[in-house]
Formats: sequence, C-alpha cells, structure tokens
Amino acid sequence: MNFDWTEEEQAFRQHLREFITRNVPQDWERFAEHGPGSAALTEFAREFCGKLAQDDLLTPHWPVEIGGLGLDPWHQTILAEEMWTTGEPRGGQYMNVNWIGPTLMKFGSEEHKARYLPGITSGQSLWCQGFSEPGSGSDLASLRTKAEPVGEVYRVNGQKVWTSYAGLAETCFLLCRTGEDRKRGISILLVPMDTPGITVRDIPSIIGRGDIHEVFFDDVEVPLSARLGEEGQAWDIIAYSLTNERLGIPRYALARAALERSVSILSERGDFADDAVRIEAASVASLCEAARLASYALVDRRAKGETLGAEASSARFATVMAERRVAEFVTEHLPEALADAHPYLKMHHQRGIVAGIAAGAAEIQLNIIASDVLQLPREPR
Ligand SMILES: Cc1cc2nc3c(=O)[nH]c(=O)nc-3n(C[C@H](O)[C@H](O)[C@H](O)COP(=O)(O)OP(=O)(O)OC[C@H]3O[C@@H](n4cnc5c(N)ncnc54)[C@H](O)[C@@H]3O)c2cc1C
Repeated sequence: MNFDWTEEEQAFRQHLREFITRNVPQDWERFAEHGPGSAALTEFAREFCGKLAQDDLLTPHWPVEIGGLGLDPWHQTILAEEMWTTGEPRGGQYMNVNWIGPTLMKFGSEEHKARYLPGITSGQSLWCQGFSEPGSGSDLASLRTKAEPVGEVYRVNGQKVWTSYAGLAETCFLLCRTGEDRKRGISILLVPMDTPGITVRDIPSIIGRGDIHEVFFDDVEVPLSARLGEEGQAWDIIAYSLTNERLGIPRYALARAALERSVSILSERGDFADDAVRIEAASVASLCEAARLASYALVDRRAKGETLGAEASSARFATVMAERRVAEFVTEHLPEALADAHPYLKMHHQRGIVAGIAAGAAEIQLNIIASDVLQLPREPR
C-alpha cells in the first residue's frame, strides 16, 4: 500500500479547493448551522451541486456513459474529504452521488435510470432513505412496513422513523415487507413523496430542524414498476448500497478540521501552552489519523476491485471514536462553541455526537468486528 498522493491527485484536490473558495460563501458556517436537512441548506445545496455538475465535479467517480469521468475511488475520497472538511455543502445530495445513483445504475430498470439519474447528475434531486422503523433500527430485518400487491400496484402501510431529509425529499428509497422471510421477504420501492397517503412529521433535534422525521404510509399506492430489483432482493441490494455509503463519508476529515480549528483558537488566546491540553489534542489527532488510514485501507481495496467485507466496520468504528473525542475536546476546552461562539465547531459537535447512531450504531459495528473479523465465539465456552 502506498498512501502518497500522485501529482494529478494533488492537482485534483487543489482544483476542488479553488472551486470551494469560489462557490462557498464567507458566511457559510452560520448557514450550515441551520442543520444538514434544513430548507436553507437544501436550497443552497441545489445551487452548489448544480455548479459542481457544470464543472464535472459532482459525479466524477461515475462511469462516463452516465455523466461521470470514470475516476477511481481515490478521487471519490479526495472529493468527499474536501466536501466534509467544508461542512458538506452538498447537503443531503451526498447520498445521491455516493450510493443512490450507483445503486440505481446497477439494479434499476431502464425506466428508473431515465427517470431518476438526470436529477442526480444535474444536482437537483433530493432523496430520503426509508429504512428504520420504531423497533427496527439495528435489527433492520424485523421491519414491518408492508407492501401488498393489489392488481397493478403495491399498497403500502406502515411507519418509518429518523428519516433524514424526508420533509423536502422528492423520492423515498423505501424498504418494505413483501414476504414472511426476515431478509428474503424485504423489497425496495422507489416512492414519490407526493403520493397520496404519505404523512411526514418533523422530529425536533439538536442536529437542527428539518433533519429527521417520522414518515407514515396509509394505503399508499405505487405501481409495481416502482420496485427496484426483484421482489425479496432488498437485502443484497442494500449490502451493495451501504458499502458505497460507508466509503463516501470521510467524517474523520471534518473531525480533524474541527480539532485544528479548536487548537488554533486555544493557541490564539494562550490556552494551548498547557501540556495536559497539548497531550490530549495529540491523542485526539492520532485517533483522527487512525480513522483516516483505516478508511484508506478500504479505498485501496476498492481501487483494486476487491470486495469489502466486515473490516469496513473497523474503519467506521475508528471514525466514530475520532468524532466523539473531538466533540468531547471541544466541549471541555471551548464550551462556548456550543453556545454559538464558533459555528463550525458547533456544527461538528452536532454531527459528531450522533455519528455512533446514524447509519448503524457503533455497538453493532463492534459486534460485526467481534464475530466476522476476530471470529470470537458467540457463546461463552
Ligand atoms: C441523525 C440520524 C439520522 C438518521 N437518518 C436515518 C435515515 O435517513 N434513514 C433511516 O432509515 N434511518 C436513519 N437513522 C436511524 C438509524 O439508522 C438508527 O437510529 C440506528 O440504526 C439505530 O437504530 P435504533 O434507533 O432503532 O436503536 P436500537 O437499534 O434500538 O439501538 C439502541 C441502542 O442499543 C444498542 N444495541 C442494539 N442492538 C444491539 C446489539 N445486538 N448488541 C449491542 N448493542 C445493541 C445500539 O448500539 C444502541 O446503542 C438516523 C439516525 C440518526 C441519529
């Protein structure tokens, strides 16, 4: 493994930085503070992603035939690192380019691709991910939202919860039950959010208004053609989707940038001379680096065309630990950041403290590492 950047990769990063300087306004930090799912950020993201698309920087890692440049996973990583360091100005659209688009490309019908990919490649569409339900988060296979075939349609009844972006999204990537088998009885429907029978309720939270929601489905009818893949194929499809999702979110970059900003504020006011604070900062920085390198090991494997397995959980857990420790460092040494003195640090804190829950709880990653990487026995012997 060689983690040196090539000259071309360094130039790509520099090009991105210049793009960000030109297109992300000076008051961005105040703006981002509204929360990743807010109306303000969603509107900004449409404009920003439109400009990224015009400069071939929205989906450069996609194949050329569908609006990409065919660049490798290292370029995807550089792009994502620069976006996350900035505070993710793409808003909810990071999901589109990381995993929804690639999943539609691999499993979608021609009708799905024609209908949905142009909105993604032009940076205009917003999706939500309808997976979790009350009582079915970590144990996703227990989900109960039911889709019953009735003539030419599926009739959907049930409830989703914690659904990010649902209030403004146009389409839901919905997991629902079409059979009895825990995993083989789950299918995916691509559901327009303006379909009659869908009710969305905002859940107020510390990560800002408009981010997470409850979504209710009452006799919602969607055509059979809205199903992605075969009936019962959802588990295989989301395994593919989630690997793409994990690769595309280098949260360690935001954590590291937040730590550096904290150190620079502490230095300016003379509070970084204390050895105890310096040692703590160094220890937190080493966690950010560990997370970065664990993630790079996965990118390296992906770049070589290898399939990623349970070791993706190690990289994700390392990232969660880095984010948490940076959030704790800020809380301890710059508590005024959480009362709006430093919006960037507050934004990191809001995201850092939920990182071990969203996209799969940290403890579940540890379970996977224990069973599939370390192969520890499940029962005491
Ligand atoms: C900010 C945010 C955004 C989110 N966005 C979305 C979204 O867009 N779409 C979506 O579908 N979901 C979303 N989620 C939901 C998220 O995926 C779930 O919260 C997560 O999977 C955990 O499920 P749960 O909330 O049901 O908690 P539970 O599964 O009930 O877990 C509760 C606690 O018990 C622990 N636990 C559970 N089972 C085990 C076990 N077997 N061993 C050890 N510990 C265990 C967990 O680690 C956790 O600490 C989001 C969540 C957050 C916080």
